[in-house]
Amino acid sequence: MSVIQAPRGTFDVLPADMARRAVLEAHAERILGAAGYARIETPTFEATELFARGVGQATDIVQKEMYTFDDGGGRSLTLRPEGTAPVCRAYMEHGMHKLGQPVKLWYLSSFYRAEAPQRGRYRQFWQVGAEAIGSAGPDTDAELIVLLADLLLAMAVREVRLRLSSLGTPETRAEYRRELAEYLHAHEDGLSPEVVARIDLNPMRAFDAGDRTTRETMRGAPTLLDRLADEDAEHFARVRELLDGAGIGYELDPTLVRGLDYYARTVFEFTSDALGAQSGVGGGGRYDGLIEQLGGKPTPASGWAAGVERILLSASEQPIAPDVVDLFVAVAKPDADVAAFALANEARGAGMSAQMELAGRSLKGQLKHADRIRARYVAIIGDTMDVSLKDMESGAQTEVHSTAVIPTILRGSRLA
Ligand code: ATP
Ligand code: MG
Repeated sequence: MSVIQAPRGTFDVLPADMARRAVLEAHAERILGAAGYARIETPTFEATELFARGVGQATDIVQKEMYTFDDGGGRSLTLRPEGTAPVCRAYMEHGMHKLGQPVKLWYLSSFYRAEAPQRGRYRQFWQVGAEAIGSAGPDTDAELIVLLADLLLAMAVREVRLRLSSLGTPETRAEYRRELAEYLHAHEDGLSPEVVARIDLNPMRAFDAGDRTTRETMRGAPTLLDRLADEDAEHFARVRELLDGAGIGYELDPTLVRGLDYYARTVFEFTSDALGAQSGVGGGGRYDGLIEQLGGKPTPASGWAAGVERILLSASEQPIAPDVVDLFVAVAKPDADVAAFALANEARGAGMSAQMELAGRSLKGQLKHADRIRARYVAIIGDTMDVSLKDMESGAQTEVHSTAVIPTILRGSRLA
């Protein structure tokens, strides 16, 4: 008798693998939490209609990747293939439009797609995702992009590239498709037979073709970015301005598309060249049409999802865990412990995580300990009112008055 194994395309997360996942979760919590995103978890399965909504659903996911089953009572259910539609359903179901907008949510959950398994592509996998519902502004899009960039940076994902584009409105897109198909038909001689065969099915595919002749021909093809309506072009220019201001590098890619037709305006994808064939780490964009498609009032929204396994595969071996302790209070003199005790208490009262020396270590031993527990700052209390404040990141150390320790740390200043 053969031994039962985990189903094809699934894997066990063993205790040894858990540590890196916990680091990712902690970074997501910290980075998204600091920007006002609250965590949400939705059911593992949903009514099938949530993902397959009538017309315009010619996506890979809907056509062939969903795990759909009958629940025995004649209802069709589907294991969630993605997180955006469930989050929007929850937003409507719980009347979150009555809250201050935008409602910012994030998740870290498992998803299910019936695909051919390979490195970085599984049938059960995890995504970390963020959605901001109820805001149409380009600043929301830029914020979301910056947050994903921060997360990938914190996880030490290697060789990251960001591609960015705007899809305009569904109307602009439909018109552009017609124009592109016309261009392709007029240039069939310069296209590969496979591309010609797909012109009316999906003209955008022609941009992905690998052969030289087709690529040459596509250089003269019209691009969607050049066809945007004024308002959409302005929105996109603002997103770019904000990203430039935040120092986020990107490549404009007018061929970037999202499968689903509820997308509008901003789209983006982060890839890692360290991944090989499955290079997509995470992507997203603005989906102003979705909530209305789900039966709600027209509600602008924007978001992204990133693959946990792909982040871990493309990250350097040891991602750096976030600081767990804001302040460690060290004592340089035996009778400094009363002041140290008071400072640690005061720091906790100000909302920081703070610990003080409790084991009677030498000063050198205390600094080693502070490093081990990943303290961001160490305050060394001596016998004067001045405290030596050490920035454990930069290594810099300055003397500050004891009353200035907490304000200095709260300002988050990197001591130089
Ligand atoms: P791909 O082009 O790789 O099929 P996708 O466009 O289907 O990706 P999205 O639906 O945008 O991907 O999902 C966001 C992220 O989730 C992807 O960038 C990827 O990191 C991850 N992802 C998607 N499908 C899988 C899968 N089957 N296994 C593992 N990770 C996945
Ligand atoms: Mg896919």
